[in-house]
Amino acid sequence: MIPVEDARRLILSTIQPTQPEATPLLSALGRVLAETVHSPVSHPPFDNSSMDGYAVRAHDLAQASKDAPVWLPVIGEVAAGCGEPPTVGPGEACRIMTGAILPPGADSVVMVEETREEDGRVRFTGPCALGQSVRRAGEDLAQGACVLEAGTPLNAARVGLLAGVGRAQVQTHRPPRVAILTTGDELVQPGEPLGPGQIYASNAYAIAGMVLEAGAIPVPCGVARDDREETRRLIHEALECDVVITSGGVSMGRFDHVSEALAELGTIHFDRVAQQPGKPLTYATLSGKPVFGLPGNPASTMVCFEHYVRPALLKMMGHRQVDRRHVRAILTEDIRKPLGKTSFLRAVVEEGPEGYRAALTGSQSSGMMTSMAMANALIIVPAERDGARAGEAFDALLLGS
Ligand code: AMP
Ligand code: MG
Repeated sequence: MIPVEDARRLILSTIQPTQPEATPLLSALGRVLAETVHSPVSHPPFDNSSMDGYAVRAHDLAQASKDAPVWLPVIGEVAAGCGEPPTVGPGEACRIMTGAILPPGADSVVMVEETREEDGRVRFTGPCALGQSVRRAGEDLAQGACVLEAGTPLNAARVGLLAGVGRAQVQTHRPPRVAILTTGDELVQPGEPLGPGQIYASNAYAIAGMVLEAGAIPVPCGVARDDREETRRLIHEALECDVVITSGGVSMGRFDHVSEALAELGTIHFDRVAQQPGKPLTYATLSGKPVFGLPGNPASTMVCFEHYVRPALLKMMGHRQVDRRHVRAILTEDIRKPLGKTSFLRAVVEEGPEGYRAALTGSQSSGMMTSMAMANALIIVPAERDGARAGEAFDALLLGS
């Protein structure tokens, strides 16, 4: 049995980010940038107006007031997208629209709401600050400036930013394809009637959901019957994916064939972790590909995915921050736990006046689906403890975004 920290470190040390690939901009949403992007253009590319109004020389309006308005002749008009604006000379104004090039000679813009145009002249009833309502070329981004660094996760605003500097595609890390193979003669697909001794195959759904939530691509590979040859064959076939996840068949039972198949096909790095739930977690590499043998009990499967598989998938996708957010949360009840194993307790963590509080969601037995489904956090109680008292604070790994 290896400690949880060692298991995690070992797994992550075997994981490499996927090869960068050219990605059309919208497909890059949710992925991680695999190149540092410098701006080929300035943003904005030219001095322009942030208002609809009149481009002027501020100096000409210095004496304007309500009682003594200044009238200037309107020499022309410039709209957004208009190539060649007229030149504004001393004592002149030019009608201008938001986003239009600031005409040469003008240095400021007065918004239309503060003016009145009549017979080719426009009236100003106050002075204007030099540079008012003008957006300077490069004030957002200078040409050549770093736009986004490699390793940046791309959200909508960043995709917009990349488009805004003219990039139609960028290098990103490809999301891995993750084979999901469940095992067990007792499993029946949801929607089918249950026979004696059978249960619904829930893990494939939970795992596929967690793979999707992590941003990777689930590839369902069906159910292997509890048969040595079939288990081995299906694991071998699953190796066409980048990662393989199996569920069940790693315990000590007579029909647990996954460990044996993994040992035959590749290298098992460990097959027991000092934790609860999830002790039988088995990690192997087959032809250099990571294979996670998750235990079959639903809570064990999900806890192991959270703590080991998710960070590994994130690392493959180029994320540098692979940890869930942690907070210190105060237990609201006493708990007992086995000495020597790290416990992951399913809980609801809520922020209150005295900080975060963690209320367990019910039975912590590894076969329970409901307490996992209700939880928004896993409370981590260290191996060296045999229990904890209400009021004590522990690390809480916050699930969900
Ligand atoms: P195993 O590790 O194969 O002995 O499975 C441990 C427990 O998890 C058994 O009670 C199984 O019936 C259950 N189990 C295994 N696979 C699944 C699955 N895909 N969905 C739900 N429960 C499962
Ligand atoms: Mg089984």
